[in-house]
Amino acid sequence: MKTKQLIVANWKMNPRTPKEARALFQSTKRTAGHLTKVQTVVCPPAVFLGLFSPLVSRNCFLGAQDMFWEKEGAYTGKISPAQLHALNVSYVILGHSEERALGETNEDIQKKIRAAFEYRLNAILCIGEKERDHEGHYLSFLKEQIKKSLGKIPGKELGRLIIAYEPIWAIGALAKKADTPRALLEIVIFIRKVLSDMYDKSIAFQISILYGGSVNAQNAEAFLKDGGVNGLLVGRASLDTKEFTEILKITKQIK
Ligand code: PEP
Repeated sequence: MKTKQLIVANWKMNPRTPKEARALFQSTKRTAGHLTKVQTVVCPPAVFLGLFSPLVSRNCFLGAQDMFWEKEGAYTGKISPAQLHALNVSYVILGHSEERALGETNEDIQKKIRAAFEYRLNAILCIGEKERDHEGHYLSFLKEQIKKSLGKIPGKELGRLIIAYEPIWAIGALAKKADTPRALLEIVIFIRKVLSDMYDKSIAFQISILYGGSVNAQNAEAFLKDGGVNGLLVGRASLDTKEFTEILKITKQIK
């Protein structure tokens, strides 16, 4: 497990223009530059990656929101890990629930994770249930997502794996509410247990786990302090310069 807290900004399909995107990136980079204990990753839409590629710095990295598993060829509309690597991109979000909702399967995600590792990209595997039922079926669902997305990838190849727990009911504009740090802590323990059973304890503890879902400047501290996570995946709040700057500063204070 890495010692730095990892804060990932998922801009989704925002903003509209390169001018707005550049201003947002520059502001994030300015704050991130002062925070040596925080690793900030900005994941803009792919059309802006080339724009930011020369601006990557020691504390502010570039991530993609998705990619395909082939390195080149006749795959209209797709982006390859080789292309991301060539653009100074070092992280890629995979298995986001918005991609899964469009038909992406755990098997597709596994191929993408393998391809990401081949190009030394850090893969942020998103998992999350639609509902948290009282019978605990959501735990079996999460376990299946982890098992099928990692499949037979050997433990020794997981050095660049990060897991982002993003309950679907807590993310995006239709979110009911954020999770609670207490419930999150239980999930984090559960994820580590699943990884420990699949691999071993040292691998389970080497993998960073992030929380995503309605994170803002009011709740970030509690998730980081009491949720057992190694960082946050931030959607809407990463588009608001003031709010995101605040989240980064809060993260810096976490011991
Ligand atoms: C996301 O969709 O990855 C996300 C974390 O969204 P939000 O922070 O807007 O809930």
